[in-house]
Amino acid sequence: MDLSKLTIESARKGMIKKEFTCTELIRAYFDKIKKDNKEINNFLEITEKLAIEQAKKIDDKMERGEKIEGLEGIPIAIKDNILVDGYKCTAGSKILENYKAVYDATVIKQLKDAGAIIIGKTNLDEFAMGSSTENSAYGVVKNPLDKTRVPGGSSGGSAAAVAANHCLGAIGSDTGGSVRQPASFCGVVGYKPSYGMVSRYGLIAMSSSLDQIGTFAKTAEDAKLIFDTIKGKDVLDSTTVDVTKFPPATQASLLALRAGQNLKIGVPKEYFEEGINPEVKEKIKKAIDLFKNIGAEIKTISLPLTDYALAAYYIIMPAEVSANLARFDGIKYGYSSKAQNSKAKSQNLMEHYLETRAEGFGDEPRRRIILGTYVLSAGYRDAYYNKAQKVRALIKKEFDEAFNPSADGVDVILTPTAPTPAFKIGDKKDPLSMYLSDVYTTPASLAGLPAISVPCGEVENMPIGLQIIGPQFYDEFVFEIAQAFEQLSK
Ligand code: GLN
Repeated sequence: MDLSKLTIESARKGMIKKEFTCTELIRAYFDKIKKDNKEINNFLEITEKLAIEQAKKIDDKMERGEKIEGLEGIPIAIKDNILVDGYKCTAGSKILENYKAVYDATVIKQLKDAGAIIIGKTNLDEFAMGSSTENSAYGVVKNPLDKTRVPGGSSGGSAAAVAANHCLGAIGSDTGGSVRQPASFCGVVGYKPSYGMVSRYGLIAMSSSLDQIGTFAKTAEDAKLIFDTIKGKDVLDSTTVDVTKFPPATQASLLALRAGQNLKIGVPKEYFEEGINPEVKEKIKKAIDLFKNIGAEIKTISLPLTDYALAAYYIIMPAEVSANLARFDGIKYGYSSKAQNSKAKSQNLMEHYLETRAEGFGDEPRRRIILGTYVLSAGYRDAYYNKAQKVRALIKKEFDEAFNPSADGVDVILTPTAPTPAFKIGDKKDPLSMYLSDVYTTPASLAGLPAISVPCGEVENMPIGLQIIGPQFYDEFVFEIAQAFEQLSK
């Protein structure tokens, strides 16, 4: 079985035609993971017992002569900040090293109900903070395409899993780019839904006004199939929306795309200015030009506030991080200094909290907790946090205007996903230079827009990604453009 050739559909066909059973398929993936993982380090745990149990159910179903469809029997890897009942969920942190989930996240329940096979938990930057998956308490993840380079982050383990043929799809979380950027670095498709499209119940929160659960796969079609399984209103996450109440007003442009005419593509000039690798710039422009072949109109637009997105993100996100991570105190969850460190000196509750958090958190969460409490503190809140929220509102408005059909707006915006291809492990020691790799992904996060990264060529023999951003809740449309691009670039 050549795993590198399989897609969700061809794997399903293989099972239906009895070329292999589901159990054989899953075992082939486990063999590949076991062979690679010592070096790539992208899995923290493989959920073998669960996966084989699930695979047997699919095989039984087929033996009874019943049809399989959708994600039935398809192996999916899960970022280790999403709860799978009965398995550890570390969020890449020492503070949760022995924490075992006691329920399934909504997305896991949906995947299980759809017959998908949960294959394992993938490595990540601690609490999803990072752009390289070098910040995990459980070691650096390597890019399977060049093991001297990072896979991107923070969902680097999930992106690497798809790229290394460890599964047919994967789930990650994207707060400021953590699905799109590693997808770009690993040469796979990575999609972040509109804010509110997918339930975050059972996702360990980083920054609640930004976090979204997204999907990885080899093709846009496969990424969409996984998205279709996990989307929708969830009573357990009050931020999810019932999209059937938001009829897509741009159906017209969807139809235009099908008819091959009048699709209006916006290319914001701010995404091609300083900081971008010149070869990335050239390849992205060429990729965008391909849309001319289907009669699309390519329009240079300006989103001047792009320059402020990263600054606003790195104020709002740590503020929310500092609140969300307050619960890890050695009492409620996971690591507790007294239970685990015989030299623990704490005499009272406050000392115990401090000791546990000092021992349990790595540098990046500590840096962000300090920053976050600072920007929220009395006297600074107006100057930083409230100001950043105002900038965020303006960024959202700027996108809304760019997409406004009655103001000659565009249907979709195309940009690079990241300014460079995957960088070398250890190259970005200074946190600020690391934060700069998020410049093209944070704006859509702040505005809550759907965005997808699709592979669009190579620079330095490494893949790069084209980012497609659509109006909020036009997720289907974004997938259509991604699929159209895959056809055009064949
Ligand atoms: N790289 C960004 C950060 O470090 C994004 C992280 C994410 O999307 N989870 O915050």
